[in-house]
Amino acid sequence: MNLLVRLRDELDLSYVFISHDVAMVRQISDDVGVMYLGKVVEIGPWKPALDEPLHPYTHGLRGAVPVPDPSVAQPISATVVGEVPNPADPPSGCTFHPRCPLREDVCVAQVPPLTDAGTPHPVACHVAQREGGRMPLLLAESRAEPAR
Ligand code: SF4
Repeated sequence: MNLLVRLRDELDLSYVFISHDVAMVRQISDDVGVMYLGKVVEIGPWKPALDEPLHPYTHGLRGAVPVPDPSVAQPISATVVGEVPNPADPPSGCTFHPRCPLREDVCVAQVPPLTDAGTPHPVACHVAQREGGRMPLLLAESRAEPAR
């Protein structure tokens, strides 16, 4: 990682770096695009996108980063529950809806567009687009439960 960062800085390089490791992404990235089931669901400068995520899946990814202190409890509300759906037969509407603690009827019926209308950076989420800056608070208060 250090070599990649040094070469980037010395040679003015750009990388497309793909990882599930949020800590590594923080170290190397200027901008991040978070993908779920093959589609970008949130995109923007890494700091607001990862520190104040607007999409429930990004919130869950962030919560899955182990806390390197055994005296600090992992935040249960931030984890993503349920199974990854079959990409060949994805759920209707927002493909994250079976796992989303904030899902509404519209999420099942309509695909959310990736847009920054009403939000600080682009996100594909009906609730984030309606709630805007309140989204980090709603996510912090949400409890992960699988769809019934
Ligand atoms: S559109 Fe609905 S189901 Fe999809 S991430 Fe947003 S709140 Fe959750």
